[in-house]
Amino acid sequence: MSDLSENHLNRRSFLSSAATVAVGSAAATTLTLPANAATPIVGAQAPLVYRRKLGNYEITVLGDGYIDLPHQIWANVSPADLDGHLSDAFVPTGSIRNGVNAYLINTGEKLILVDSGARDLFGPKAGLLPNNLAAIGVKPEDIDQVLITHIHPDHVAGLFTAEGKVTIPNAKVLVDEADLNFWTSESAQAQSIEMSKPWFDIARQWKKAFGDRISTFKGETDLGDGISSFPLPGHTPGHTGFRVESAGETLLIVGDVVISAAIQFANPDASAIWDTDAEDGKKSRRTVFDVAAKNRTLVTATHLPFPSFGYVDRRADGSYKWVPEEWRYAT
Ligand SMILES: [Zn+2]
Repeated sequence: MSDLSENHLNRRSFLSSAATVAVGSAAATTLTLPANAATPIVGAQAPLVYRRKLGNYEITVLGDGYIDLPHQIWANVSPADLDGHLSDAFVPTGSIRNGVNAYLINTGEKLILVDSGARDLFGPKAGLLPNNLAAIGVKPEDIDQVLITHIHPDHVAGLFTAEGKVTIPNAKVLVDEADLNFWTSESAQAQSIEMSKPWFDIARQWKKAFGDRISTFKGETDLGDGISSFPLPGHTPGHTGFRVESAGETLLIVGDVVISAAIQFANPDASAIWDTDAEDGKKSRRTVFDVAAKNRTLVTATHLPFPSFGYVDRRADGSYKWVPEEWRYAT
């Protein structure tokens, strides 16, 4: 047998040489083994749950499913360039499959949820948060606090039903004051792009459902339990990141400062049409990328591919690279 060459890895020659080796005869070109039982194709992942220790805390990523976004949601990148980035990342071209994650922080004393998924507002492939909470045996009533990165429906709609009933019944909710003011403002809604107009109605329903259990903070604030907020304006006016620290380890939860790993690390100036201030958004994104790259800080963001933990590498040409953290076998 000759040395391994490209031809050997081509399916046809690989299979025929495998059959030849197995049967020991060049005449045999197919090799059919008996099957034990036909097993149905499942067509879905097991529960989207991933745990990671952070110091003394345990963070559980709870997948809410995914949303497919067409190229028209990008404000300043051509479809050809988008497909180029997707192709470079070895993912299908033509649209972006956008994961939706929420995070459960167990401090040992408290359960703190960060964002809540999309409920049924973005199609049947999202809204899995309740299933995945159930899969880890956490009851919604045991959650003490909810931190909101921003009041888009894919971040708050999982907290209440279409009828206005809260689904995380005992939690206090914290959100930046600027976001609450913006998403409940009639004039901001009137000036918004058409696509985002209904999101204001959802924000008001959310506010009504939680009433005085919603508290606000302003920009950079110590929220207790080793968690502090930091402003990341641009995606929305009060868009917020959370720094989580425990026993010397740090995680930055950066909301929607980046919504596509395949596109925005290669092109950090790529903006979605619904960013309320694209220039601020680019600045926030580059700042997060630069700080995370310089300090080698662990980062996660709502729409990065599950389980969404990783690091940012800065390249010589000014672009960035997303480096997913290796799977942790022992949390
Ligand atoms: Zn989002």
